[in-house]
Amino acid sequence: FLSSGSPKVCIVGSGPAGFYTAQHLLKAHQNVQVDVYERLPVPFGLVRFGVAPDHPEVKNVINTFTQTAKHPRCSFYGNVNVGEDVSVDELQEAYHAIVLSYGAEGNRSVGVPGEDLPGVYSAKDFVGWYNGLPSCQELRPDLSCETAVILGQGNVALDVARILLSPLDALKKTDITQPALEALAQSRVCRVLIVGRRGPMQVASTIKVYLPRPRKRLTELMLKTALEMPTEKEQERRKKASRIWGFRFFRSPVEILAEPGCNRVAGVRLAVNKLEGSGEKAQAVLTGEVEDVPCGLVISSIGYRSLPIDPTVPFDSRRAIVPNSMGRVHNAAGLYCSGWLKTGPTGVIATTMNSSFDTARSLLEDVESGKLDVSSAKPGSHMISSLLEKRGVKPVTFSDWEKIDDLETRRGEVSGKPREKILTVAAMLKVAQT
Ligand code: FAD
Repeated sequence: FLSSGSPKVCIVGSGPAGFYTAQHLLKAHQNVQVDVYERLPVPFGLVRFGVAPDHPEVKNVINTFTQTAKHPRCSFYGNVNVGEDVSVDELQEAYHAIVLSYGAEGNRSVGVPGEDLPGVYSAKDFVGWYNGLPSCQELRPDLSCETAVILGQGNVALDVARILLSPLDALKKTDITQPALEALAQSRVCRVLIVGRRGPMQVASTIKVYLPRPRKRLTELMLKTALEMPTEKEQERRKKASRIWGFRFFRSPVEILAEPGCNRVAGVRLAVNKLEGSGEKAQAVLTGEVEDVPCGLVISSIGYRSLPIDPTVPFDSRRAIVPNSMGRVHNAAGLYCSGWLKTGPTGVIATTMNSSFDTARSLLEDVESGKLDVSSAKPGSHMISSLLEKRGVKPVTFSDWEKIDDLETRRGEVSGKPREKILTVAAMLKVAQT
């Protein structure tokens, strides 16, 4: 790729997809200039706001992303909301190519009566709350009940169950936020039921694609323990346990029940299913039987969902992705996509990495073949920066982010945590821009 000109590429979103796409472009092309625009003042997407606080090793990818951000041909512009502060059309005028990698910030709803009752939360918001996502800090979930029901048995459901039940001493050493820690200290939740449409075999296979080997073995052991008839000694131990959890298989929610005369959740009505077929393809079919499970907290964890950010960008609302082939957006020259926006909201960071490298390869192939014209000079960040200035938007640079990072780390040291996150955009901007 050394023969071509100097392509200016803009990336929208600084999660794993954005950074891995940038990394591959910079490595494979000697002259490419990559600018990353991020809505929040802080980078790294779900690595900061999704990955569970008790899995710090997963966050080591931040070191690689930091190297990419500091590459001489890469710039980071945080606090820029594409679709609002600047349009995709304007970015297309300023750059030869745009890579959309803004993730999946919506969530799938359960679609049953009672879903909006107080005491029902989406896992996306609950996770955002304990991980310090500014837009979720008002959630303040009510943890005053004993039984919580989680709808969905995926990896995020297991993260939420663990956070609800972990001993406080273990969480205190993580980067979970202080308000979440305080709420969990007061929590009376001691029983968590994780409900799924299908059976243990289907759960096992979703877990297997997600976990690194040592944790996979642990999870398999956990599943085995959950499914086997416990020994007498084990039964005794469980009776004495202060906190318990369990899977509820072959059940679909049909209604969230309210307390009589009171507008808050009192239980979940579950339809009993049977399986038709086997393995991953097995279908849950209703038997006609229902059962009510009393509980005071319901967390729905049935998946994230990408949203359109700009009317000029093609969007497949049924699949909730940008329609593409190998990352090339259909019927939109110069537009590419990567990450959860490209594939749908499944897959671990490693999956996102591989598919982002594919998108970068597609883009570079198009440069090489001439399909993407990079012969005329483009203004790049000059044009966008002056537009933003006129609109009163002040971007956060990567060294501004390092000031936030530094303060968070120092605040964490005081309480023996890896960091104490700043929880509002205003406070982040104050640190970044003074
Ligand atoms: P994201 O990480 O969501 O990044 C998207 C970025 O785009 C965000 O920074 C967002 O702020 C930004 N953005 C959004 N809208 C705009 C806009 N309009 N303008 C500019 N920027 C915008 N994987 C693992 O390997 N291990 C784990 O332990 C693990 N735990 C997880 C836990 C949870 C709760 C979740 C939800 C996922 C987890 N994953 C885990 C999966 C992993 O997080 C994803 O594979 C990965 O983050 C997807 O990357 P992405 O860049 O597509 O999206």
